[in-house]
Amino acid sequence: MSGFRASVLTLYPEMFPGPLGVSLAGRALESGTWSLETVQIRDFATDRHRSVDDTPAGGGAGMVMRADILARAIDSASPEGDDRPRLLMSPRGRPLTQARVRELADGPGAVILCGRFEGVDQRVIEARQLEEVSIGDYILSGGEIAALVLLDATVRLLPGVMGNALSGTHESFEDGLLEHPHYTRPPEFEGRTIPEVLISGNHALIEKWRREEAEKLTRERRPDLLG
Ligand code: SAH
Repeated sequence: MSGFRASVLTLYPEMFPGPLGVSLAGRALESGTWSLETVQIRDFATDRHRSVDDTPAGGGAGMVMRADILARAIDSASPEGDDRPRLLMSPRGRPLTQARVRELADGPGAVILCGRFEGVDQRVIEARQLEEVSIGDYILSGGEIAALVLLDATVRLLPGVMGNALSGTHESFEDGLLEHPHYTRPPEFEGRTIPEVLISGNHALIEKWRREEAEKLTRERRPDLLG
């Protein structure tokens, strides 16, 4: 069995593994639970200046990443027969969800293209069937941080990455709800105590309380999740 394989196409490979080199993801990377390859898009440029972008057809501000150069980079990282999904980080994409993250974690890996400038030429999105993925309704300066977000969410779900396998199952979104509140020692903090039921030892009651709190929080904060 080979682990989850991530290939990231970027103009800034030095941003990787970055925060994914520490803690759970970092240890999993070291032990081979997942692997990370970066591809410098600029290596696929053909001109003397190694340029990867050009002015937008139709005019306007900014620059657009060239389809031909991106296609070469994608083909080198993901040759025919590679069964990994090809993702393009993009504010126009389908918003990333825990459900999609779980699917990715259950698969062989991902090839992730990080945009810069105004974005990428539409033709390479179509020709290489890139799945556009957004991490939220705001604009980042590049796809790298979005790729790190996607990989962080995915890698923590790989078998053996989280110490306590159960701690992945009751979390926010996994059952369509936000998670219930948490408490720990000390029993009293600035006059605030821990809800009585949590120290009752009655596990059925505790489960019921947590469920109710989760539903209440979700109704208040994210009624959209309740459908
Ligand atoms: N002009 C574009 C934004 C370009 S931002 C637009 O208005 O839609 C530059 C790059 O950052 C994008 O190509 C994409 O790769 C990345 N990016 C920016 N915001 C993002 C988001 N919310 N989710 C995922 N990637 C994002």
